[in-house]
Parts: sequence; C-alpha cells; structure tokens
Amino acid sequence: MPGELPVVVIGAGPVGLAAAAHLTQHEIPVVVLEAGDRAGTAVAQWNHVRLFSAWSELIDPAAEKLLDAAGWQRPAPTAYPSGADWVDDYLAPLAAALKDRIRYGVRVTGVARRGRDRVVDAGRETEPITVHADTQAGEERFSARAVIDASGTWMSPNPLGGDGLPAMGERAHADRIAYRVPNLADAEVRARYAGRRIAIAGSGHSALTAIVALVDVAKEHPGTEILWLLRRGAVGAVFGGGDADQLPARGALGQRAKAAAEAGHVRTVTGFRTSDVTTTADGRLVLESFDGHQLEPVDEIVVLTGFRPDLSTLSEVRLDLDPVLEAPRRLAPLIDPNVHSCGTVYPHGVAELTQPEPNVYVVGMKSYGRATTFLAMTGYEQVRSIVAELAGDHEAAARVELTLPETGVCGGAGVFDDPAESAGGGCCAPAGPQLVQIGFPERS
Ligand SMILES: Cc1cc2nc3c(=O)[nH]c(=O)nc-3n(C[C@H](O)[C@H](O)[C@H](O)COP(=O)(O)OP(=O)(O)OC[C@H]3O[C@@H](n4cnc5c(N)ncnc54)[C@H](O)[C@@H]3O)c2cc1C
Repeated sequence: MPGELPVVVIGAGPVGLAAAAHLTQHEIPVVVLEAGDRAGTAVAQWNHVRLFSAWSELIDPAAEKLLDAAGWQRPAPTAYPSGADWVDDYLAPLAAALKDRIRYGVRVTGVARRGRDRVVDAGRETEPITVHADTQAGEERFSARAVIDASGTWMSPNPLGGDGLPAMGERAHADRIAYRVPNLADAEVRARYAGRRIAIAGSGHSALTAIVALVDVAKEHPGTEILWLLRRGAVGAVFGGGDADQLPARGALGQRAKAAAEAGHVRTVTGFRTSDVTTTADGRLVLESFDGHQLEPVDEIVVLTGFRPDLSTLSEVRLDLDPVLEAPRRLAPLIDPNVHSCGTVYPHGVAELTQPEPNVYVVGMKSYGRATTFLAMTGYEQVRSIVAELAGDHEAAARVELTLPETGVCGGAGVFDDPAESAGGGCCAPAGPQLVQIGFPERS
C-alpha cells in the first residue's frame, strides 16, 4: 500500500536533509537518496565561498531539534559560515543524526508512477511512485508514497552562449572555461589565473564573489586583467542594494565588487551576448558576440551565468511548470525577475508546489528553475509545509511561518547568478556591446 511506503527525498543537500528532519519529526518513514558520498555534496564544491546568510538563517527548525537531541555544538547565530563550515558544522552532524535514513552513492535517474508512463491516466491516484537509481552495485528501484525532489541545480550550470546553448567553440575550449567560482586560495588554481587576462561572464553574486577574489590576485600579480561581460545593456543595479539589503553580508559583497570596479581593476563590457569562442594564432581565446563584436584575446574564461534544473529525471511524471522559468507554475510569478525584479524571495509552501502528479514535489534550489534568488530559508519553509500536508495537517500546511529579507534592490540583479537579463538592462539600454568605464584606473 502506498501509505505504508517511505517518502523518497532526492538529494542530501540543506533542503533534502531538512525535509528528512521534518518527516522524522512527524514519524513518517523517509529514505534520502544522495548521488555523492556525503551530505552537502554540492555545497562542499563551493566550500571556499563565504555565505552572505548568517547561521541563524541557515538552520532548519526541525533539523535543529534533531541536532539538539544529539548534543550538537551550535554555531554562533550571527557568524557567517563558509560552504565548508555549513557542511562540517551543520549538514554532516544533521546527516549523522538522520542515521541510515540516508543512502549515499545513489544517483536517481528517473521517477514514474509504477507501471505507468506519463500518458496513462488509470491508477495515478493509487499506484505508488517508483524511483529508479544507479548505485555502485548496479540499478535499483525504490517504491515511494511521495517523492520530494531536492536535487538542486548545481550539476547543470548555464553555458556561456547568449542564446542559452553552448557558444560555438565553447565545448572545444572547455579546458580553459570554468563554470564555478574559482577557489583562489588553492595555489594551483591561483597560478592558473595569476598574470592572465580573464573574462568573467555573469552578473549575480557568484560573479561578484569571483571579481572580488580575482582583484586580490591582480593586486599581487600586476599582469592580471579582468574583463567583466554583462549580457544586460547597462550596469544598473548589478552591485545590489548595499546598506538597504536586509542581508548585510550580501549588500557588502556588492559594495566590495563596486569598489574594485571603481578602482579600475575591472573593465566592464555591457550588452555582450557570446556567440563564438575562437582562438588566435598563439592559442588565446577570442569571444565574439551575436552582433559580430570581438573582444581582445583572453587566457581564461569564468562563466557564472547561473544554473538550470535538470528535468530529465522527471520526464515520466506530470509537472505543470512555467514555460519561462521552469519553476512550478504557481510559484513562478513570485520569483520571476521579469515581473518584479526586486530579487526578493517570497515564502510559500504546498499550495504553490503541488503538481498534477499526486505526491511529487520539486523543492529547494531546483524549485526556482532558472530564477536565481533562492535562499535556504525558503526551502526549509517549503518542506515544512509539504511534510505537514503529507502528515494530514492541512492547517499547518497552509500556514506561512517565515518572513524573508528584502534585497534592497528593485529593477536590478538577482541574488546568485545571472538573472533574466531584461532586469536592469531591458528596453532602454544601448544596442550592442559597450565598454563601460566604472571609476578610474589607478596610475602606477
Ligand atoms: C556560491 C553560492 C553561494 C550561496 N550562498 C547562499 C547563502 O548565503 N544563503 C543561502 O540561503 N543560500 C545560498 N546559496 C544557495 C544554496 O545553494 C542553497 O541555499 C542550498 O544549497 C540549496 O540547497 P538544496 O538542498 O536545494 O540544493 P543543493 O545544495 O544543490 O543540494 C542538492 C543535493 O542533491 C544531490 N543530487 C543532485 N542530483 C542528484 C540525483 N540525480 N540523485 C541523487 N542526488 C542528487 C547533490 O549531490 C546535492 O547533495 C548559495 C549558492 C551558491 C552556488
């Protein structure tokens, strides 16, 4: 009977683990399937990045109860952890408290209604859900009463190409293109960028983080040059809300990047939509835009243009997604930067996340599709509400128990990565690429 089966949670990231904690609190059996070999596999890959959320905004309330019962050493609520701290001081102990409810090295490959593809109507309300996965021992199937997909978007970064597809030559030069914020504290990675000309594409907080870190390299290694490519037609509010941002560390990051740009360490090109990556005779990389502009040759490219959800695992279940953002249709208007562009996130729950396929939910970073403003707190509230619904507590499921911080920016950037380019660029921006001077270069 589906009612006696566990809930399968896909992904042991912050939101998947929070879902497991809420399910455990309600005494609902749960199996978490994690592709990596540890909790927080995706977060661990940006362990060198400092979060702009303080600890008080990164701990799920149900998880906190489980951790307290296990004698957890609570981090100082006002401190800002790095990705590594978030894993070591919260996600790993939480995973330990969840014990054998988590299976590692299990990559989910598909979700379906048992014995029925997405076209068949009969039995969708009564048959359990099957989850197909690859494990080291081979293929495995899990039966579930419900599936909570918290698999994030980290595995599918957006390409450099301005049309959302890889630019011509992008794949061929993949050895000199990074899609994540480089860890410049690592001597080998630092050596890769020191003294080089680097193009950074993207306008979100990952790009700002990379710029601030690369400017430090440039100060130490004077030959280092940073060329910042924005698809949007104007710099606009790309540096965020500053003091008006209710997450102070997020506002401060924007101000540090702005100061770096104003000191002339960064040259900024707006309105640049990459079409081709070619090479010069001496092997340097040349970026060309769709309108035929070529940039001066660079040695390395860092693409921080956001992430997108991998929906291939959900192709046999019935989802109602917004055609633009690939987010649940009822959630999309709350987060679409084309509509409200404030980069602010809105709390929501089971009402917005219910799909035509009964008991299948997409949550966490993945639920935001291509929108970029996701905060862990939002995900914790999503799974609190969904689990309350699964537990039959409809009143608690409908309640909103969260107030989220404002970014202090309207008409501008999203939070992490390149948001919809129309925000802050839009109708009135000059056509074609523009080299924009922000501040004045330092004289040597
Ligand atoms: C550089 C950076 C800085 C950030 N800073 C902040 C911040 O300050 N504050 C904040 O609130 N948020 C921040 N975020 C957003 C942050 O990523 C999310 O809040 C949080 O990690 C989202 O959690 P999640 O569980 O939805 O996804 P993830 O953390 O991505 O976890 C998904 C998990 O699913 C696993 N998985 C993926 N595919 C499969 C599969 N097919 N089968 C099984 N397992 C799978 C992955 O290995 C991973 O462990 C930041 C993000 C980035 C990239």
